[in-house]
Amino acid sequence: MQIAIDGPAGAGKSSVAREVARRLGLVYLDTGAMYRAITLKALNEGVDVNDGKMLSRLTKNCKLEVVYDDSLGNRILMDGNDITEEIRAPRVNQNVSLVAKSSEVRKELVHLQQAIAKKTGGIIMEGRDIGTNVLTDAPYKFFLSADVEERARRRWVEMKEKNVVVPFQDLLEEIAMRDRIDQEREDAPLRAAPDACVIDTTSYSFEEVVQNLLEMIRSAPRDLQKKSCSGEVR
Ligand code: C5P
Repeated sequence: MQIAIDGPAGAGKSSVAREVARRLGLVYLDTGAMYRAITLKALNEGVDVNDGKMLSRLTKNCKLEVVYDDSLGNRILMDGNDITEEIRAPRVNQNVSLVAKSSEVRKELVHLQQAIAKKTGGIIMEGRDIGTNVLTDAPYKFFLSADVEERARRRWVEMKEKNVVVPFQDLLEEIAMRDRIDQEREDAPLRAAPDACVIDTTSYSFEEVVQNLLEMIRSAPRDLQKKSCSGEVR
């Protein structure tokens, strides 16, 4: 069982994917956290986030571990240190899409993501290129979107709950900038796979989206999935 969930920042992918994984007893992998981990290391070591060669060296020489925890989601370890909280810092948000443009970094991380998927009995992987690039044969693919204002609002609330307060306008601009870089990059740009079910989550609750995904996963084999998905949450 492999489930791919893609979409732009703040569309609700992580929380939805984590909950669906918990209810179905599958492993959950947040691939954005892996790009964030490399970004944090580059920033800490003064590596230019536009320098593909240096980023490649850094990625090859680090020890990146993702520990799956049923209740906490993913814990991220870099060279043995837990950096789960640190990778959500604003400075990482501002630089991660630049690092993710690097084909060298992508190659290493996609390899690692596919190896993790192989080792598990079933996995829900979320990111930007899972359905189009990492798990192209996944029988279930979803692309979650929402309008950019709503996505920024969700992120703002999420960060505030963690006592990180940033001006809403800054967050909105940062998300719009990340969307643009992610969509326009040459290597595995952000887009829905042709066989993905696209769901606009703007006016739906978290529980409604979770229920909708669960229904589709339980009832529809791959070829029926598109027919049962109208782009609306029922
Ligand atoms: O999902 P999250 O917002 O944490 O992802 C951070 C960034 O990592 C994205 O904006 C994107 O640039 C990059 N990313 C990617 N491919 C993935 C997952 C994330 O390029 N599969």
